[in-house]
Amino acid sequence: MRNSMNWRVVFPNNSNSIDELQAAITAAEIGSIYPKSVQVVDNSLFFMVNEDLERKLVVVGALAEKFTGEEEQIADYQAKVCSLTPENLSAIQEIFPWTKPQAFGPNGASIGLGDRLGLASPGHIATVRNRAVKPILAQQSIRELDLTGRDYPQVLAAAAWAVFEQGFTTGYGADGDHLKKPNDVQMAIDLGFSMITLDCSEHIDDTVGSLTDDQVVEKYQALPDKLRSRLETEYLNQSFTLASGTVIKFTADDFRRMVVIYHKVLDFAEQIYNDIIQPAGRDVDFEVSIDEVATPTTPQDHFFVANELIKRGVKVNSVAPRFCGEFQKGIDYIGDINQFEAEFKVHAEIADHFGYKVSVHSGSDKFAVFGIVGKYTKGRYHVKTAGTNWLEAVRVIAEVAPDLYRKMHLFALNNLNEAKKYYHVTFDPNAIPDVTKLADDQLPNLMNQNDARQALHITYGLILQAKAETGNYLFRDEIYKILLTHRDLYSSRLQQHIGKHLDLLNTKKQ
Ligand SMILES: [Zn+2]
Repeated sequence: MRNSMNWRVVFPNNSNSIDELQAAITAAEIGSIYPKSVQVVDNSLFFMVNEDLERKLVVVGALAEKFTGEEEQIADYQAKVCSLTPENLSAIQEIFPWTKPQAFGPNGASIGLGDRLGLASPGHIATVRNRAVKPILAQQSIRELDLTGRDYPQVLAAAAWAVFEQGFTTGYGADGDHLKKPNDVQMAIDLGFSMITLDCSEHIDDTVGSLTDDQVVEKYQALPDKLRSRLETEYLNQSFTLASGTVIKFTADDFRRMVVIYHKVLDFAEQIYNDIIQPAGRDVDFEVSIDEVATPTTPQDHFFVANELIKRGVKVNSVAPRFCGEFQKGIDYIGDINQFEAEFKVHAEIADHFGYKVSVHSGSDKFAVFGIVGKYTKGRYHVKTAGTNWLEAVRVIAEVAPDLYRKMHLFALNNLNEAKKYYHVTFDPNAIPDVTKLADDQLPNLMNQNDARQALHITYGLILQAKAETGNYLFRDEIYKILLTHRDLYSSRLQQHIGKHLDLLNTKKQ
C-alpha cells in the first residue's frame, strides 16, 4: 500500500524554477506521487498523483491553461489539479503524442493485454518495459464491452492514462478486437484504434466438417462458375513452395472443402479493407481472424486465404488461424503437442513467406506452446491475452479480501449456466474445492486450479454487473476499491504472470 502523505509538502516554499520543482518531486518518496509520470515541457511541469484512490493530473506553469481543473498556486506558478476527463486526455495527447495508440506493422513481437477492469495497464507496462515486445494495452471485443458495461472511449482512456502515469514513451497499441460488423470497425477506426482484428467467423462455413464428400461437392458446384474456374486453375493439383522450402499442395478433395469453407471470408475481409481500413489514411495493424470456429485451419487453408487476400490487395499485418487442439480460456493448451508443433511450424513459415505475423488467440496461459511459438516465428508473432489479467485481479482479491473473494466465488458457481453461453470451456465444477471450508490463506491457490480458474474466468461479466435489489452493485465497487488500494500488488502479480508468458516465448530482454 502507498503512503498517502499530501504530495504538496514536497515543494520548497522559496523554489522559483520549474526545474527545481521537478527535482523536488522526482526526489520525493511519497506514495501519492507517481514518480514516472513527471514530465517538463515548455517550462511547465506535469505529474500524476493519487488522492483518496483517485488519480489526478497536476499541471504547473503556463500550459495549465489548456486543462480544466482546480486552480492552485504552487511556488510562484499557477497550477491546476485535474480530473482524468476526456477533455484533459485530449490535451495530454496533443502535448505528448506517445500517449496515443500507434500501429507497429508486420514485424517483430507484440502481445495483446486485454484489461477488462481498466486497471491492469500499469502492471503490463512494467512487464514489457525492458523487453523486445510491443504491448497492445487496449484490447476489447464488443462482447467484452457488453459483459463489463464499459465502452471504447473508456477502454482507450484507461490505457492512455496508464501510459502517461508510467512515462511509457516507446509506444503502445489499441486493438478493436474480434469485430464482426462494418459499423463496429468504423467506430473503432474513428476513435483512433491502431489495430483492427476482423472476426470472420460468421463468413466461415463451419458445417463442412460434418458433411460427406458428396455433400461438399454439391455445395462446391453451387458456387459461381467464374469463381470455381479461376480457383481451379490456380490451386487444383498445384503446389507452392514457400521461402522456407516447404511445399503446400492442393488435392481435389482438400481444395473443394477449403473453397466452400472460406470463399466468403475473402469477400468480407476485402470489403472491410477497401471500405474502412485503407480510407482511414493512416497505418492500421489489420488482423484477419479465422479462429473462432470449430474447423481447424490447415496449412493449406491458411496459405489459400493469405494468398487470395494479398492478390486482392488486402494488406494484412497478422492472421489468426484456428490451430489444432483446444485453446480454452485461462488454462493451458489441450491437445497433441507434437501435431501442434508440426503444423505451427508451417503456419509460421506461411506467415513469413507472405510477410506478416502469425497471431495466437486465447494465448492466456498456453505455457505448453509458447516455446514452439517463440522458436518457429523467430520473434515475429502476436499473442493475445485477456482473461488471465482478470484472473490475476481475482488472485489479488483472494489474497487481501478473502470475504469478498468467497462471495464472488459462490456467486460464480451459482451462475455458471448463464456464463457458459458466452465461452467454450470444459471444466468440472465438482472438482473445485469447497470454498467455505478453505482457510483464508488457501484461497489464492484456487487461481492455480484449472476448474476454479475457468469458473471465475467466464463469470467476470456477471460478477461485475450483478446488482442487489437496492440497485447497488453486489461486487463491482468493492472490487475496484480493493484493486485501487492494492495497485502495486496487482502490478507485481501481472509482472510475474505475464512475464512468465514472455520468458517462455523467449522474448528478448533489452
Ligand atoms: Zn480469436
